[in-house]
Amino acid sequence: MTTLFEELQRVRTYDYTEEDVRGFEKLHEEIRALKQQRNAVIVAHNYYRPEILKVADFVGDSLELALMASKVKDADVICFCGVHFMAETAKIVNPSRTVLLPNLAAGCQLADSAPAEDLRARIEELRALHPDLAVVSYVNTTAAVKALSDIICTSANAAKVVQSLPNQTILFVPDRNLARHVAEQVPEKTIIPWEGFCYVHQQITPQEVQRIRAADPEIEVLVHPECRGDVAKLADAVLSTSGMVKYAKERPAKRFLVVTECGLTDRLAMEVPDKTFLKGCKLCTFMKVTTLEDVRDSLQLMRYEIEVPEDIRVPAERALQRMFDVVG
Ligand code: SF4
Repeated sequence: MTTLFEELQRVRTYDYTEEDVRGFEKLHEEIRALKQQRNAVIVAHNYYRPEILKVADFVGDSLELALMASKVKDADVICFCGVHFMAETAKIVNPSRTVLLPNLAAGCQLADSAPAEDLRARIEELRALHPDLAVVSYVNTTAAVKALSDIICTSANAAKVVQSLPNQTILFVPDRNLARHVAEQVPEKTIIPWEGFCYVHQQITPQEVQRIRAADPEIEVLVHPECRGDVAKLADAVLSTSGMVKYAKERPAKRFLVVTECGLTDRLAMEVPDKTFLKGCKLCTFMKVTTLEDVRDSLQLMRYEIEVPEDIRVPAERALQRMFDVVG
């Protein structure tokens, strides 16, 4: 049987010692006991630290975590190891549960690039020019932005969501790279992008991808749609993080370049040990700020509880529900 130390050795983002791993095992025990005591579930995003993924009940991307949170019936508490907008989404879809975010510094620069008051003004301006305007917001937005949106999407279903709308003109918020990717897939619609971007994905350059491709022509290149267009053009497949996990498991190829935040490669290294995953080391500081100690303290002290006022939660839930209806 593989030990936790052996598993974490496959993860090259961190250089954990045996002593570190003994510390993790002790914290895992404490967290499991607290989880029982609080009747809690722990859900974690793909980009989180591997020692947190190992103690989570469920690991996934934004859509999977939102769906998972909506289905929590037996647990009283959802300890959400993601960033702030994701914990808000869990509260929107399951308001009767207590949702905890273990570290309030886990924000998101992309979500913050679209403040609700700026969006409200932009919608007014554009509706005067395009009366049939629909607002499609990526799940990486605040609850207040979701409440102003007609429908929500994720990177996995953005094109399908846009295609499902009768509207011709779409304001796509907040990621301009994902907006461009959608515009390529749905050329019959006019997509107006919000000029936001994720600083992690924006840093990745085509030169980095070309250099690895030149050294290893057989490698399959998987690119996240939040990356720049000149990077996406070099991909064998443009996929959401969960799409990448599925693709890497199913494809016969043995080596992949995973062009997204580093944490996904950590998950793949643990889950698909017979294949090799290369990455450009781009870390999201927001996704890495939470520690196992934070998770333990969160369950012990029941902090930090996420609240969403009803006048925001209800319209935000409606926009999310429309997405769930489209994707089934
Ligand atoms: S990777 Fe980018 S989009 Fe994801 S949480 Fe970090 S800043 Fe936000």
